[in-house]
Amino acid sequence: MISRQSLIDRAFLRARTLPLGRLDSLVSQAMVELARKVATDDNRADLLRKDFTLTVVSGEASLAAALTASEPMLLPFLPMATIISPDSTLPWQYVMDTAQLNLDRSALGMVYFTTSGSTLSVSGGLTTTYLDNDGERLREAMQRMVALEANHAMETDEYAEVLYETGRIEEAIVLMKDPIKKAHYQQRLDAILKDDGAWCNCDGEKQVIRRYPSMKHGKSIAVVKCTKCEFVNVSDQL
Ligand SMILES: [Zn+2]
Repeated sequence: MISRQSLIDRAFLRARTLPLGRLDSLVSQAMVELARKVATDDNRADLLRKDFTLTVVSGEASLAAALTASEPMLLPFLPMATIISPDSTLPWQYVMDTAQLNLDRSALGMVYFTTSGSTLSVSGGLTTTYLDNDGERLREAMQRMVALEANHAMETDEYAEVLYETGRIEEAIVLMKDPIKKAHYQQRLDAILKDDGAWCNCDGEKQVIRRYPSMKHGKSIAVVKCTKCEFVNVSDQL
């Protein structure tokens, strides 16, 4: 049912054109609202996700590059990030400060971390640990794949996503219906197929955005993006 009041409202809106200046001021609000919607949509939230790689030396890693990247790490959300490493069977555990970090704990295979300014400190004085959440991502995708197959839901975009996350990228491209994700997958495949030594000609820095299970390489490989242009290569030789 359309109420009388809503008909009046619509007629009112049709009869008026909003001045451009006023619409302009609504754009940032609309973007926040859109981001909120995407963040709460299980199928799309991943579009907002950003992965960072850090190197820990003697228990410390610098966040400087991550914090100054064009899409910087959001420090307030770091305590909620999933960080796993070969040193720990469980995701790293955030603690409030270095006093808590340095507490004596029984060796349960748990790694603790905290941050101070642009430095991330890790318990146990770890050295040169590769830090990422891609292992966790792969495990999650494989669990979802089993569940979707059990439910015969293999024609869905969600199934295309798990194909992508497990490295079956060509099948994922064929199946994915969402045009944005389809284009993203195609771009990743193009990057995989590039010569491992290929790099752009600008003076941007090489940033490892995540590791991806590459069929061509037969293992998980760094996805390296230029910080200045859109160039991406999937290679451990850059
Ligand atoms: Zn470049």
